[in-house]
This record gives sequence, C-alpha cells and structure tokens, in this order.
Amino acid sequence: MRKAYIAGNWKMNMTPSKGARFASELAKAAKEAGADVKMMVAPPFVTIPAVLEALKGTGIIVAAQNMNDHVSGAYTGEVSPEMLKDLGVETVILGHSERRSYYKESDEFINRKVLLAIEQGMDVVLCVGETLEEREGGKLEEVLTTQLTGDLKDVKPEDMKHITIAYEPVWAIGTGKTATPEDADSAHAFIRAKVAEMYSSDIAENLIIQYGGSVNASNVKALMAKENIDGALVGGASLSVEKFLPIITYDK
Ligand code: PEP
Repeated sequence: MRKAYIAGNWKMNMTPSKGARFASELAKAAKEAGADVKMMVAPPFVTIPAVLEALKGTGIIVAAQNMNDHVSGAYTGEVSPEMLKDLGVETVILGHSERRSYYKESDEFINRKVLLAIEQGMDVVLCVGETLEEREGGKLEEVLTTQLTGDLKDVKPEDMKHITIAYEPVWAIGTGKTATPEDADSAHAFIRAKVAEMYSSDIAENLIIQYGGSVNASNVKALMAKENIDGALVGGASLSVEKFLPIITYDK
C-alpha cells in the first residue's frame, strides 16, 4: 500500500520570518484537520533553518529545492548536500523543470546529483515531464524514457526506496492548466512500467509517483482517485494555508 505523499514547493517565495510563521500555521491547521498524508515542504535554502525550527516535532518533512553535485569546493553560490544534512535536511527535489529550462540542467547533471544525494543518505523527489510541444508531437513516452533512464543511471535497486518520482508536465506548471486525471494516470502508469522494466515489478509497485502541475483544492480529489497517482507536488497552491489545507486533507 502506497501512502499518499503531498509536497509543497515554495520556489523563490517566503523569507525566513514569513516561512516560519506560515509553517507554524500550516502545521497547526494540518493537525486540527487530522491530515494523515506524508507531508513535505521545500522552502528556499535561506528559509530552511527557520522552517525546520518551526516544524520540529510535527513530522512534516523539510526538503531542499536543489543542491550542488559536489560535497564541497570552489563552486561559488552553491549549496552542498553535506550542508543540507548538517541542518537536518534529508530530502531534496531534483530535476524540477524550472531548473531544467532556466538553468539548463541536463539529465547527466541531474543524474550526478541523484547519485550524490543517495550516497549522502538523502531521499530524492525526482521531477520528470514533457513540454507541450513534446506532448503534441507524440514524444511523451520518449521524453519520459530519456529522463528516467538518464536521471536514474547507476542508481542501484536497493536505493530506489529513496526515490520518489514527480510527474510534472511542463505545460501544466504554474499555468492553471492541469492534465486530466486520465492523462496524468496514463503517464504515471507508463513511468511505473518503465521502472518495472529498469528494476523490478516489486520496486515499481512500491514507487511513489506524485503528480505536479496546477494541483488545487478542486482537482486534487479526482487526481488522487487514480490508481497510479500517489501524491502531489504543489507549487502555487502550497503558499497559503487556505489553499494547501484542502489538498493535504483531500481524503477527508
Ligand atoms: C511545481 O512547481 O512543481 C508546480 C507543480 O507548480 P504549480 O503547482 O504552481 O503548477
């Protein structure tokens, strides 16, 4: 049985003080509402310490939105997994489409980060997904295959328990457009089948696959009702208690 895993990607929003205040309000609201999903928030790097403090003892995971592919060294402006771990951060989002497109992150580079995160004992939420042009050009499966095989290259079967996949069609991120539950489920089913082929049906069966792309209070139930959708990676709607609470309590 796969436990629902709902995550909020705050992107470049929330100063440390705002983030801490918001995290406390969210934790309180989640507790009062009896939310029982696995929950994660990913604040910007500088906001992480304040949010960790605010969420201590709540069980809500605090993740990073990215990390460098080295443990330390002359990489000005970068943040390493060792630094994150020292703070108490054990989960990192890698391969988000904004990083792929704005910062030109390749599958090879993402793969180096995935391998390093695992070596450092961290959990990874690995984002994959196609652009509208790729979808309309019939390349969905080819794109997902390239990303999955490239990003997970050399990841050992026993380490797959540290991997969550977030299927995020690029055209649905921050646009208000959502994949239909059927389209999302079929992409998730493809990802699961590909992972079964790369690893085993057991590993694929246990793999958590989140959907991301304009998830909100009104579409979350229909998405989560689908067989292959095990959670959500939420951007815009994770930035207020009013919008995020109905998502983390979609099953109430
Ligand atoms: C995201 O950033 O991963 C995302 C899915 O954003 P939004 O929910 O705003 O589309």
